[in-house]
Amino acid sequence: MAQPGQEERPVPIIDANRCTGCGMCVVVCPTDALAMRGAIAVVANPQACTYTGDCERICPAQAISRLFQIIYIHKETNMIQSTFYPDWREKAIFSSVGPQPQILAENEKLKVIVGSLDVGQKIPLHPEALAVYHFLEGTGWMTVDDERYPVSSGATVITPEGAKRGVEAETRLVFLAARIA
Ligand code: SF4
Repeated sequence: MAQPGQEERPVPIIDANRCTGCGMCVVVCPTDALAMRGAIAVVANPQACTYTGDCERICPAQAISRLFQIIYIHKETNMIQSTFYPDWREKAIFSSVGPQPQILAENEKLKVIVGSLDVGQKIPLHPEALAVYHFLEGTGWMTVDDERYPVSSGATVITPEGAKRGVEAETRLVFLAARIA
């Protein structure tokens, strides 16, 4: 566990197998943290990186990703537990038998998971505690009580305590869910 302010700052990950060497990330980086090394982009100056995500957004080859990070501040000790996941996709488990939620953090009041649904799979409508769902990938629908909403990557849905909720995947759907007891 780290003390507040002692965490290491992450830098983007560049997949050399995907990089086509176009150089667009180097041009767009506002702090010159990136450079071309041969025909591959690298994080040549990691101390300069301010983690804007500009490089990730502009890369036409989807070669750049940023770490998925859970920062968990423990109230009793004020300690910070910081966990990096190289790629949230590693936590997306698709199964023909149904959802396989992967727990990222849990205590008696909070549960944070990554949920994954394959095409056409559903989480049936069920009542639950106050929760936040943030969709990371795909398209589908979320039903809260009697309303059915289309959702896609980038959408965040906040469901009130006691409300029934269900999720349906149109395409492969991945979401982060935090349930507060
Ligand atoms: S934008 Fe993407 S493909 Fe182009 S150099 Fe950077 S990492 Fe490589």
